[in-house]
Amino acid sequence: MNKKRGRQNRQNRKGGTGKGIAIVLLLIISMAWVFVNVNGRAGAGSVDNTHFLELVNLDHPISAEPGSSQIVSAWPAVPVISRDITMNKTALDAVGRMFSAAKAANIGSYYISSGYRSYSQQKQTYNNETDKSYVQPPGCSEHETGLAVDIMAAGIKQNALAASGQGQWLAGNAWKFGFILRYPQGKQNITGISYEPWHFRYIGRPHAYYCHKHNLCMEQYIQFLKDSGGYEITLDGRKYSIFYEKSQNAIMKATAGLYYEVSDDNTGGFIVTAWGK
Ligand SMILES: [Zn+2]
Repeated sequence: MNKKRGRQNRQNRKGGTGKGIAIVLLLIISMAWVFVNVNGRAGAGSVDNTHFLELVNLDHPISAEPGSSQIVSAWPAVPVISRDITMNKTALDAVGRMFSAAKAANIGSYYISSGYRSYSQQKQTYNNETDKSYVQPPGCSEHETGLAVDIMAAGIKQNALAASGQGQWLAGNAWKFGFILRYPQGKQNITGISYEPWHFRYIGRPHAYYCHKHNLCMEQYIQFLKDSGGYEITLDGRKYSIFYEKSQNAIMKATAGLYYEVSDDNTGGFIVTAWGK
């Protein structure tokens, strides 16, 4: 996809039209069909697109900047390198829980060194960087989703994070809070990015668990969902059903009493996550 098209799509979603990204769940209640419009903003009963599972890389530029209501200040909720760092609210809450858990386990303290970057901020970052091996062109950085976070351990240099106890704790436990180590060692030929022990991406707990357990990077996970159509998993006694919908205007049958979360994958499909109480 070229940059021009990416920019057009961004403007579309900013304008709130969002054509062609609707998926409809049919919920059966007392023999009546109730339509739940996942495209969001459709009124009572609608399910918003969380965007949690959007794949963003060089081949899949982000289709739209996140709505400003989703992005909040990271400070003072968690320690930060700079007080102007912002992030997606759900992801930030998860970072807070993760940092608290690390502290409770006497692992040490962490801080955020980078969170959300707008298209123009990413453009500036890219243009200013002479070594482009760790920085993506504007439109192609996960930081533009607001769901990616660079984490540093207090007192540990960035190049020493992977070998440190703090770095290893993050790699082993981030899934519990819905994060994946987005650019793992040994996956550079798939992700296109060198190993980054500090960069974590929020995708949600069952998905992060599956990636961690099966050693899948996000590109592999999305492909697995496409190929398999989805899977079921039980985590801490809660059963999750995960479906992949290829069509952008798919209609699927939903079961009354279950909770649903839907995200587009930024490659033309949707991932539906359903669970009981
Ligand atoms: Zn990063």
